[in-house]
Amino acid sequence: MVKCEKSPIPPESLAIEKQKGRNGKYNKPDVVEQLAKDFSNKCYICELKDISDPQVEHLVPHHNGRDIDAMFDWNNLFFSCLHCNGLKNKQEYEGKIIDCCKDDPEVHLHCLYDKGNVSIHNKDEDEKSVLTAKLVDEAFNASNSGIRIYASQHRMDKLQHEISLFLIR
Ligand SMILES: [Zn+2]
Repeated sequence: MVKCEKSPIPPESLAIEKQKGRNGKYNKPDVVEQLAKDFSNKCYICELKDISDPQVEHLVPHHNGRDIDAMFDWNNLFFSCLHCNGLKNKQEYEGKIIDCCKDDPEVHLHCLYDKGNVSIHNKDEDEKSVLTAKLVDEAFNASNSGIRIYASQHRMDKLQHEISLFLIR
């Protein structure tokens, strides 16, 4: 997870769709395109690039539209992959993940590479630091299903590829 600058102007469709209430769509093409641009086409949780299944992720969940403001708030919309979107969808993470558009995650999180393994640790004991470290670590290491083993391995391979490119430079 790295700091991201989100464009300050919300895509136009959000206000229009919000008027439709729960039936409105927060993932119209203008929203997805702007998020892809702002997040450099990377999942904000695992940093996987060129995601094939991009999701419009809500930092604070909208509970099937019961929280209309959270559903259409541009500042609450993030770009993620399907894998991480699924992992984050747990009550323990609700409202407790670092907002990487406002706060710099690298101040709170530390990434450790060791013999092809990656693990994420919190640098301070703030609840958000602890839970964000847990979530990002899970994104790389969750392996309680076949799909997840594949997805985690895929992430690790891509990350190692990026690290080797970085070292060559
Ligand atoms: Zn991801």
